Amino acid sequence: MSILDKAKQIRLSREPQARPLPDEPIAASRPCDISVQSDQSPTPTDPSRPPAGVRLFFGRADGCPTAPDAEGDDAVYHWTWERGPGWFYAAEVGLPAWEMRLRPGLYLRCKVVTHRGTRIVWRNTTDGRKQLRCECAECGKLIKVMRAPPKCPDVEFIARAS
Ligand SMILES: [Zn+2]
Repeated sequence: MSILDKAKQIRLSREPQARPLPDEPIAASRPCDISVQSDQSPTPTDPSRPPAGVRLFFGRADGCPTAPDAEGDDAVYHWTWERGPGWFYAAEVGLPAWEMRLRPGLYLRCKVVTHRGTRIVWRNTTDGRKQLRCECAECGKLIKVMRAPPKCPDVEFIARAS
C-alpha cells in the first residue's frame, strides 16, 4: 500500500459516521422511526401500525373523543396517532394494540419512595364494579382511582408493542 493510499484511508476513517439528529428526544421515544436508520433498505411501513409508545386518539362517528373499548354509540369510528398521516377507519383497518398511561408531566407515586413507575389498569372491586386504578408498577398498591378517558385528561391511550 502506498503512502498516499494509507493517508486516504486514515482520512476516511476519521470522517464522522453520522451527524447527531437535531430531534434526538423524539427519535429516542420512537425507536422504530425509520428516519434514524440508513436509507439503504427502505422497508414499507404500514401507517395503520403506529410505533409503540405514540399517543393514540379515538373518535366516534360524530367526531367526539372516545375510548378504544367503548361500545354502541360510543364505539370507535375512526382513530389516529400523534404525528400519524391521517384518520383510519375502524371498519377498514380495525384498532391498534393499545394501553393506558398517565399523561407525561403528571407524577403520581407510591408511598414507598424507592418505587418507580405506574400502570393504569381496570380492576373489579369486591362489590363487582369496574374501577380504573393507577397502581405502583413495582408493588401494585393503589395510588389513585382514575376516571376513564376520554373524560379524564390525566389518562392517555398509547400504542402497545404488538
Ligand atoms: Zn410501590
